[in-house]
Amino acid sequence: MNEGSLNPKLRFEERKAIILFLWLFYLVYYSFEVFYFLSKTTIYKDKELISTGVAGLVFLLVPLVFGVYFIKKGNPFIVKYIYIFSYLGIDFVDTIMTYWGSKIPYTSGNIVEVLFYLFSPIFINKKYFWVVSLGLIGKEAILGLILQSMHVLMPIVIYIILSLIAYTVLIRFNSYVNTLTTVYEELRQKEKLAVIGQMAAGIGHEIRNPLSSLKGFAQLQHERSPRTNEFYPIMIQEIDRINSIVNDLMYLGKPKEIKFEKASIEEIIAYTLSITQQQAELHGVKIETFMEGPLPPVECDGKQLKQVFLNLIKNAIESMAEGGRIKINVKIVESQRMFISIQDEGCGIADSNILNLGEPFFTTKKDGTGLGLMVTNQIIKDHNGNLKIESKIGVGTEVKVSLPIMQKRIQ
Ligand code: ADP
Ligand code: MG
Repeated sequence: MNEGSLNPKLRFEERKAIILFLWLFYLVYYSFEVFYFLSKTTIYKDKELISTGVAGLVFLLVPLVFGVYFIKKGNPFIVKYIYIFSYLGIDFVDTIMTYWGSKIPYTSGNIVEVLFYLFSPIFINKKYFWVVSLGLIGKEAILGLILQSMHVLMPIVIYIILSLIAYTVLIRFNSYVNTLTTVYEELRQKEKLAVIGQMAAGIGHEIRNPLSSLKGFAQLQHERSPRTNEFYPIMIQEIDRINSIVNDLMYLGKPKEIKFEKASIEEIIAYTLSITQQQAELHGVKIETFMEGPLPPVECDGKQLKQVFLNLIKNAIESMAEGGRIKINVKIVESQRMFISIQDEGCGIADSNILNLGEPFFTTKKDGTGLGLMVTNQIIKDHNGNLKIESKIGVGTEVKVSLPIMQKRIQ
């Protein structure tokens, strides 16, 4: 998991964990090193050993200074890497300096290394876990080779066991955090929808009444003098367009009750194609449909699914300013789900925009509303289906919809 994707609450928690790590690590590490230094100097009473030991202790404070500096600068996430890398470096050099060509028997392992293992799952970061695990095991293995010592075998075995435990805990944390993040995102989306919904329902209601009188009067005018009103079709078309935008907005306000009935996907698609045919011809777009028949009826709300395919086919047509081909594939998967793919040869969607798809009002079109995909998403979710969008800029987009053929009844 990458730090950037964590929600603010989790970032705050990680910050707390890092601060705890910073001080706990130093408390343990420093007391251990001071104790070790004192015991070494009292046993060997070697002047050189004392001076390098003191220098080492002072040097050990460098990562602490950096750690505090980065936390203050608002980038605490880098601290854990500073620690592990400086620890590995310092310990490696220190061990070589102490034991290389010396008669002192090599003893390895350090309580702070266990601390690294304990903290590695807390940061819920696989990269960091691997740095700690491979770093510490690798260090022991290299030291063992250089110093020709078999003493490293024990810590290596212990570290492999610790790695396994830490990894299991990390995976559990990870799935827990993923669930939390999804729930958090869904909640945020719902809140947003609720606000928009209330606004939309209010505004929509107000707009609908004058709109229907406008349409009524336009029709009346047309009936009275059918020949003089050349703008009549455009007026009606535009009024219908406003109406469909208002409908989209109102759908978000209070999603309609779904009426599940058995309906034929072929008919639904044929209906949407008949509506979009004119627009497609105008754009020089050819639509090809492939059905892997015979297809069973799907339990769905036909009216709403028409809305779904209307939105998706319109988007596909609108993506091809220069014309092109749309392929619609329908097939059954595992005799339980209907799979429908709509593939265009249009402009494609930039990676940076993929995440915004389905956000209310996200549009890249001059006269787009940015509501189509959102309503589509909602309807498919209400049908217990799912929607995936794959796109390559300049090549095209494929929208994959999968729907259960039968709805599960909740007892
Ligand atoms: P609108 O069509 O009103 O812009 P939508 O919610 O239908 O709103 O689509 C949102 C955005 O997603 C579009 O503006 C467009 O940038 C992108 N998009 C959707 N479908 C496609 C597609 N088939 N090809 C390229 N871009 C698409
Ligand atoms: Mg659209």
